[in-house]
Amino acid sequence: MAKKGPRQHMGLKCSKCGHFNYISERNKTNTPEKLVLSKYCRTCREHTEHKEVSKLK
Ligand SMILES: [Zn+2]
Repeated sequence: MAKKGPRQHMGLKCSKCGHFNYISERNKTNTPEKLVLSKYCRTCREHTEHKEVSKLK
């Protein structure tokens, strides 16, 4: 069995400019789906959709 916990680090990337703006954590058990959040992007200077990216590199 893999030793992965339910909490996983993930990042939020602006879907408009592709900038990587936020790093967050999510609980896989509580939130099985991928997140799409409206967040402020400094590059776009507005709120845009931020999509979850699981790879932080
Ligand atoms: Zn942006």
